[in-house]
Amino acid sequence: MTVLPLLQLAQDASTCTRCRLAGGRTNVVFGMGNPIAGLMFVGEGPGEQEDLQGLPFVGRSGQLLDRLVLEEMNLTRDDFYIANTVKCRPPANRDPLPDEIEACWPYLDKQLELIDPKVVVTLGNFATRSLLRTEEGISRLRGRAYPYRSGYLVPTFHPSAALRGGGSVVAQIRADLVRAKEALAAAPPPRSPR
Ligand code: URA
Repeated sequence: MTVLPLLQLAQDASTCTRCRLAGGRTNVVFGMGNPIAGLMFVGEGPGEQEDLQGLPFVGRSGQLLDRLVLEEMNLTRDDFYIANTVKCRPPANRDPLPDEIEACWPYLDKQLELIDPKVVVTLGNFATRSLLRTEEGISRLRGRAYPYRSGYLVPTFHPSAALRGGGSVVAQIRADLVRAKEALAAAPPPRSPR
């Protein structure tokens, strides 16, 4: 892909008023990283630091994620793209509401189409449910790779769950990152149902 359509999309998003989150944001947090990489992470939504800096996962969760990805996959932010389900910070870090996720979906959908990653790792319930179009929870969904678009989707816990939940959550995220690494090395699935 050429990077231009992604820059155009980011430009469009920067003035978005499709939902109420526009009213409270400092910056739209569109996404960052390598748009021609085979790996993309999708989180929930910006927190305070992300809103202030306009960049995804720059707070404590992001630092943990970066460390685990480096340790398990030997990759840094130059090697993947990272974005969120909603691009503007929900007030007081509340969960994004269904209509906010829906309003923001066209941006994420287009990012997925343009970047066309071989492997998408979804972080937590909101990203996983949005992309897999299910109501099932992350604890039941994680632990396998799903055929998704032209590659695979590997769901895992949000790193903030690891900050709260400690060692066993970290161990499961590590196992999922190894799964993502294996999916990156695997042949693409024969046919995607989505
Ligand atoms: N949590 C997320 O889901 N996304 C961010 O960008 C930061 C924290």
